[in-house]
Amino acid sequence: MDTRPPETLVIIGSGPSAWTAAIYAARANLRPVVYEGEPSREMIPGGQLMYTTEVENYPGFIDGVTGPELMEKLRAQAIRFGTRVEQENIASVELGQHPFRLRPSYSDEIEALTVIVATGARANWLGVPNEERLAQLGGGVSACAVCDGALPAFRDKVLAVVGGGDSAMEEALYLTKFAKEVRLIHRRDELRASRIMADRVLKHPKIKPVWNTRVVDVLGYDEITGIRVENTVTGEKSDMPVGGLFIAIGHTPNTAFLNGQLDLTRHGYIKTPKAWRTATSVAGVFAAGDVMDDYYRQAITAAGTGCMAALEAERWLAHLGLGESPVLETAEAPVNLTQEWKAS
Ligand SMILES: Cc1cc2nc3c(=O)[nH]c(=O)nc-3n(C[C@H](O)[C@H](O)[C@H](O)COP(=O)(O)OP(=O)(O)OC[C@H]3O[C@@H](n4cnc5c(N)ncnc54)[C@H](O)[C@@H]3O)c2cc1C
Repeated sequence: MDTRPPETLVIIGSGPSAWTAAIYAARANLRPVVYEGEPSREMIPGGQLMYTTEVENYPGFIDGVTGPELMEKLRAQAIRFGTRVEQENIASVELGQHPFRLRPSYSDEIEALTVIVATGARANWLGVPNEERLAQLGGGVSACAVCDGALPAFRDKVLAVVGGGDSAMEEALYLTKFAKEVRLIHRRDELRASRIMADRVLKHPKIKPVWNTRVVDVLGYDEITGIRVENTVTGEKSDMPVGGLFIAIGHTPNTAFLNGQLDLTRHGYIKTPKAWRTATSVAGVFAAGDVMDDYYRQAITAAGTGCMAALEAERWLAHLGLGESPVLETAEAPVNLTQEWKAS
């Protein structure tokens, strides 16, 4: 077992929430260490914005900014204030004792007095040919209509939305503001969405449902020209010209490594039981960004909760006598676990 002293604050993740938490924590002299993760087929350090070209709705960038450039700036800003960065995943955690124990994929186990989980969520993709390539090229395939729908490339085009739940309904309705027509592609002949959302969609003059259909290929070299679809009843295939494809088949929060040690919602997101707080079911562990937010899912809201988590961690540490917080009186009292540790 490593004998080095516990880290004051470990931040797990590398999207806007993680780097914002690191900026706040580093400026508060908490000497945070960020485990930014490793590249894999499903995730890359820097988070979901690494998969997008133009970000036009992050405040402060009048002419927009590319996702990777924004993430590089946030990371550099965190490092400027003394954040240390480890290029590893946290593979598992032990949160039932304090200090908490965290196991990186390759290096030795570490201990931490506070932890911010900012591991995000990943959009589910169809897994069909050319989808990933065109999404990464900014070639008209996206998993976020609210983020990308207003881009000039999608204006006045026929757009396809894949999905049958409430998020797909929201994406389809949102796209009607810009599109000439929205085709809602669903593999069954009825929607899974709530009645009210389904009604709004089915009554909308710009939305055309395409039932019993699944996408089997995305057509186009640098940008989408259409999709190949298959009728799920007859098996018949045909090509449908579209100017954009929006996948809305849900998200998977990156919480598997927690192994059930934090309370999760039924969809696997970390529960933060109090409104406007990032504290989780374990005192001293905070959650920020899309891993605890299945509603807004935006870079700016992720950054906002990253700020909240860092401030809450700072106040919690102050309760342990490990720092000073100017607004200590508003902080939550730590649970017995902490007091036991402090007494030992
Ligand atoms: C295609 C697309 C386009 C988008 N465009 C926009 C846009 O224009 N504007 C906007 O506001 N939002 C946009 N979004 C949404 C935005 O990207 C997310 O809301 C935001 O990135 C969430 O940030 P986050 O900090 O929660 O973490 P994420 O961005 O989800 O990143 C978390 C990262 O943490 C790392 N990680 C995960 N598990 C571990 C682990 N165990 N150990 C270490 N590291 C780990 C991984 O590298 C992971 O990628 C878009 C999303 C997508 C998919």
